[in-house]
Amino acid sequence: APPLLEVEDLCVEFRTTRGTIRAVNGLSYSLREGETLALLGESGSGKSVAAQAVMGLLDTPPAHITRGTARLRGDDLLALSPERHRAVRGTRLSMIFQDALTALNPVLSVGDQLAEMYTVHRGLGRKAALARAVALMDRVRIPAAARRAHDYPHQFSGGMRQRVMIAMALALDPEVVIADEPTTALDVTVQAQIMRLLRQLQAETRMGLLLITHDLGVVAETADRVTVMYAGRTVESANAEDLYARPGHPYTRGLLDSVPRLDRLGKPLVPITGSPPPPSSVPTGCAFHPRCPRAEPRCGTDEPSFRTLTPTGHRSACHFAEEVHHVPVG
Ligand code: SF4
Ligand code: MG
Repeated sequence: APPLLEVEDLCVEFRTTRGTIRAVNGLSYSLREGETLALLGESGSGKSVAAQAVMGLLDTPPAHITRGTARLRGDDLLALSPERHRAVRGTRLSMIFQDALTALNPVLSVGDQLAEMYTVHRGLGRKAALARAVALMDRVRIPAAARRAHDYPHQFSGGMRQRVMIAMALALDPEVVIADEPTTALDVTVQAQIMRLLRQLQAETRMGLLLITHDLGVVAETADRVTVMYAGRTVESANAEDLYARPGHPYTRGLLDSVPRLDRLGKPLVPITGSPPPPSSVPTGCAFHPRCPRAEPRCGTDEPSFRTLTPTGHRSACHFAEEVHHVPVG
C-alpha cells in the first residue's frame, strides 16, 4: 500500500518585487496510517509553509510551488484544481493551528460551528448536526458538552478552545491531520493534556498525524518518526528512538545537546552557536555549515545528498553522516 501522505522534493518560493525567497527547498517525508510523524525545525525552517502547500493554501501568488509532489494515498494534491483541493481539505486532510482564537469564528457558538460541518458536508438537518457536534465535543473531552455548545470561542480557556479546534479538524474523519505547533500557546500542564488527547484520538481513529513543532520534548513524547528540517530542507529522518539515540546529522545532535533530557541529567547544555539563516540568504553547500562544529571546507560548496544510513530507513543529509551516526549520544 502507498504511504498515507508522501511528500517528495517539495519546493516553495515566494516571488516579490524585492526578490525571490525559497522558503522550502527540497522537503521529503512520508506518513503512514496510524503514525505520528514529527516535522521538527526552528522557526523559519519552512515547516509551516510546507504544511500550507500540502493543504492547498498556497496556490496564489506570491507563493509558487516550483517542484515536488504531495500524494495522499497516491493522489497528487499539488496537481488538484483549487476547487478540488478545497474539497479534500477538511474531509480527507485537516489542520489544527496554533492559535484557536483566530482560527475559530468569533461570532458563532462553538456548537453551531461544529454543526455547520455536518450540515454542509454531510447534509444533516440542524438538529441532527447539533447532536453530532455535541457528541464530538464529548469525544475531545470537553466537560458539559451539551451546555458548552452554546458558548462562543472567547468563553473557553485556551486548552478547551484548542480541544474545539481539534474537534473541528476531526469532524469529518480525515485520513490525515496536520497539527502546526498545536500546544505552543498553552502552559506546560495543558500542553501535556492536549498531546495526550491527540494520542488517544489517533489510537481510536488510525489517522495519520503530522505534528509540526520546534519542541523536542513534544517530539519525544508523541512521535513515532521524526523528520528534521533546516533552512527549508530535510536534513534527517528516522524512528524517534533511533534519532534520539544516534542522530546522523550534526544539527540534530546540536538540538539534542541544547535541551534538558532525562537520560543526560547532569550533562551540560550546549547551545548551537549562531542562528538559522533567513530564507532570503541561505548559505551555499550545506546550509548548516556556518554553525556546524564538524564542518570541513567542502561543506561550504557541496550540497550533501539526503541518503539512507540503515535498513530501518534512517536518513541524513550530511557529508559525514555515517561517522556522525556511529557515535551514540551521551
Ligand atoms: Fe556539518 Fe558538513 Fe555535515 Fe553540513 S555536511 S552538517 S556542515 S559536517
Ligand atoms: Mg510556524
